Amino acid sequence: MPDDFRTLIDAQTLGNRVSEIAQQIRDRYQTPPLLVAIAQGARVFASRLSEHLGDWAQIREIGARSYGDGTESSGEVEVYDDADLDPRGREVLLLEDIVDTGRTVARVREHLLGRGAVSVDVATVLSKPTRRVVPVDLRFTGFEIPDVFVVGFGMDLAGRYRDLDRVAVAHPERGRASSITQ
Ligand code: 5GP
Ligand code: MG
Repeated sequence: MPDDFRTLIDAQTLGNRVSEIAQQIRDRYQTPPLLVAIAQGARVFASRLSEHLGDWAQIREIGARSYGDGTESSGEVEVYDDADLDPRGREVLLLEDIVDTGRTVARVREHLLGRGAVSVDVATVLSKPTRRVVPVDLRFTGFEIPDVFVVGFGMDLAGRYRDLDRVAVAHPERGRASSITQ
């Protein structure tokens, strides 16, 4: 971990916010929604949420890949899922690590509605509102952050730093990847 990766949000602050979001989810729904985590980035969020949601935590995963220059997604977002994810007739809550341009969640949401979900809301750990290209309605947002590239709490830089317990500002110019790993 390079010394100059500055902490943006510490582990305790993240933990407290996840616990608040779990309570808000319980308040918002009459019955447990189907939680769909966008792999791989939202896995940490999903698992931390599930610690608070107990038997409300029915979690599935969906894959999304956007091709870009390494730090920004392009317009093309490919969605991958399988028969194990059955959103028909369900209220779905999509879990995301970070919403940047909004393309990924918009595309995945459309996909799940196309597969028969009754509703698809979004919960994200982070949001960069100044970067939005596609408008998306975020039901639950952990923190709004400025336009910086972050790692940790599930988020990577070329496959590294996902298991950091805090969110840190990284320097992608030193580890440019050819595609964004979600
Ligand atoms: P969007 O489609 O909203 O532009 O991009 C969303 C995806 O891009 C996120 O799920 C995440 O995988 C990646 N992304 C956007 N900003 C960041 C960031 O600051 N750090 C990391 N590690 N990934 C990001
Ligand atoms: Mg992601």
